[in-house]
Amino acid sequence: MTKAYAAQDPSSPLAPFDIERRAPGPQDIQIEILFCGVCHSDLHTARNEWKNTLYPSVPGHEIVGRIVAVGDQVKNFKVGDLAGVGCMVDSCGHCPACGEGEEQYCDNGFTGTYNGPVFGGENTYGGYSQSIVVKESFALHIRHDEKDLAAVAPLLCAGITTYSPLRHWKVGPGMKVGIVGLGGLGHMGVKIAAAMGAHVVLFTTSPGKIDDGRRLGAHEVCVSSDRAQMAARAGTLDFILNTVAAPHRLDDYLQLLKRDGTMTLVGAPAERHPSPEVFSLIFKRRQLAGSLIGGIRETQEMLDFCAQHGIVSDIETIPMDYINTAYERMLKSDVKYRFVIDMATI
Ligand code: NAP
Ligand code: ZN
Repeated sequence: MTKAYAAQDPSSPLAPFDIERRAPGPQDIQIEILFCGVCHSDLHTARNEWKNTLYPSVPGHEIVGRIVAVGDQVKNFKVGDLAGVGCMVDSCGHCPACGEGEEQYCDNGFTGTYNGPVFGGENTYGGYSQSIVVKESFALHIRHDEKDLAAVAPLLCAGITTYSPLRHWKVGPGMKVGIVGLGGLGHMGVKIAAAMGAHVVLFTTSPGKIDDGRRLGAHEVCVSSDRAQMAARAGTLDFILNTVAAPHRLDDYLQLLKRDGTMTLVGAPAERHPSPEVFSLIFKRRQLAGSLIGGIRETQEMLDFCAQHGIVSDIETIPMDYINTAYERMLKSDVKYRFVIDMATI
């Protein structure tokens, strides 16, 4: 029996719930979970905001821990190693996307770490639990110093979800990049874009985050409710990464892009954004795009990039039974900048 925390329906608080993990198969590793980050997607899922939740729901896809068992065909991990698990635990393995290491775009649908399945027939349970069993091909090596382990956990979702589009749109020196929203994803976006050499402009609705934005690596911070500050930046950005978890006017940001600039949405609000004006796009041939987490190979690349650049998440470590309060605080943007559950407290 494995101790976990689950939502049983959209409105009840998360509460203790025992689950059964499979015995490790030949290609599986078993991880004792030490820390698990709290992503806004966990909240969207626990509360069925995307209308696709399978209950009981055990959220958590920013998992780090220590390997306690390996199957006899496992090649790249051994007992005692630190390992991570992000948002996926399986994919079909044979479609073009899987062939290119982009399992998140698997044509047959990847299996989420929680709220699966596509393969296997039962609901997958995530990282708000003592342990997880996962195919080694979906596990990640942690090369950060062990003392930073809790702060590494959020890289498994917030890190890769921002790294992947920043790489895909070739962010680097000489580019002006906007990051919209300073939450879990946004603060990783600021750190990673700055480490990639871009000039980073943070857009926040929270005037109280200006100093933090600069400390985290933003070269400029713009309070998005200030029309003059926004107008001063019209047509100046090459790329915008929008991490906001609530519906808002996309035109306000599209007008900041240069000719041929792109704004990529990673935030996934429960309600629709108002449709942007066609004119926001056609006059400067601007593009509006989206991006979903990142593949396993790229997730390892991101972890290694962050280890090399000394990047971890800014976290507030919490006990497991604080999770319902943590969700309420996350909704008020009252977290600097990611809650991480200490799984010893479950
Ligand atoms: P978070 O920590 O709650 O951060 C969201 C930030 O958005 C807030 O800190 C706030 O920043 C801003 N914000 C919130 N409400 C707003 C509003 N009404 N208007 C304007 N700005 C608002 O959430 P997160 O964990 O970073 O996740 C962000 C979103 O990304 C969620 O919807 C999540 O489900 C989604 N997500 C997507 C992927 C993917 O693969 N695409 C992966 C993970 C998560 P300021 O205070 O700075 O304005
Ligand atoms: Zn996430």
